[in-house]
Amino acid sequence: VPPGRAGKEGGPALSVLVRPKWHRRFTRRRRAVSFPYLGTSPEVFRELLADLGHEAVVPPRPNRRTLSLGVEHSPEFACLPFKILLGTYLEAIAMGADTIVTSGGVGPCRAGQYSQLHELILRELGHDTDLIVCEPPRADLIDFLGKVAALNANNLPYSQVIRLIKRSWQKLLVLDEVERLSHWVRARELVRGSTTPAYLEALRQVYEARTPEAIDLAKNRAGTLLRTVPTKEGYQPLKIGIVGEIYVLIEPSANLEIEEVLGEMGVETERSIYLTGYTRDSNLLMKTRHTGQTSVKDLAAPYLGEMIGGHGQDTVGHAIMYARSGFDGVVQLAPFTCIPEIVAKSVLERVSTDFSLPFLSVSLDEQTGRAGLMTRMEAFVDLLWRRRARAGGAKA
Ligand code: SF4
Repeated sequence: VPPGRAGKEGGPALSVLVRPKWHRRFTRRRRAVSFPYLGTSPEVFRELLADLGHEAVVPPRPNRRTLSLGVEHSPEFACLPFKILLGTYLEAIAMGADTIVTSGGVGPCRAGQYSQLHELILRELGHDTDLIVCEPPRADLIDFLGKVAALNANNLPYSQVIRLIKRSWQKLLVLDEVERLSHWVRARELVRGSTTPAYLEALRQVYEARTPEAIDLAKNRAGTLLRTVPTKEGYQPLKIGIVGEIYVLIEPSANLEIEEVLGEMGVETERSIYLTGYTRDSNLLMKTRHTGQTSVKDLAAPYLGEMIGGHGQDTVGHAIMYARSGFDGVVQLAPFTCIPEIVAKSVLERVSTDFSLPFLSVSLDEQTGRAGLMTRMEAFVDLLWRRRARAGGAKA
């Protein structure tokens, strides 16, 4: 609890603020539901919630106003994702949301207390909003199923709920695949900026698909759309791995569209975390992020053998994976004050020396500006081109 917040003069006492409202969270009723805005997923969650019988309140894409709202009401020490999420919730509540569905966090960093603190602040601000926090099913299966049941306002048979979830999952997989392809194409586009309109049209086609067959068709169309963007022949772009904390990696507005910026500089990026890969790894205990037989955590182990919270170990493991795969460099995206990424940064310095891999760490907070970030990226990219030229490769 941030000092001076709960129970402060005129506000409700701490005991009132922290009293759980389990009965309300597990009550099945039609709600006005919102959720965090993350990458390409909001439209998928909107569709799922509407099919379950709710009024889905899609929050605006995080912007300056979202961040100002979050900063205004967050403790000073909070990290950037916390502030953006709080701002998003406040905007959604202003749009009529009475319930927010979000994911929980595990591990020894602040993410584990995010939702409790968000709820305290919302209640202190006078919002009696239900926060339904979905922890990974492996942590508490009964709790998870209870929350899914509470969200089934249309009282659909389980088989149909599972079908809807599977359709959403299929869409999310396709969206991640389309995004990956867009990074490949953008780095090679002949006319600067020509990939983005094709990418947006590809996303639209996937969003509109309502059945598994239609999603497959939309996936093919999306691929065709992107592959028809004219590209430079024989061009060998720089390859940069993007590692760091999940929220600032996945949500472009939180990282000032760094992948688009680099793509338009002729750089191909590969990101360490996508929503579907993360969900699979953290919820279903499947190790999808690996190279050959070695998992990312195994790769990180000689440098960072402990789970330090957040995605610190992933950051180190992926950087090593990118070094071994011949990438030209790595960019780390770290929310300001994010402890796991601060630890990872100090480890990356050793990794960088051992693997001769240039890396750039970008600290993100409400003060970070696009112009400053562009300048740093241009300098880093320039350095990588010169390094490649020295090694015998040429800029095409
Ligand atoms: S991983 Fe970093 S940014 Fe995310 S909650 Fe933990 S400390 Fe904050």
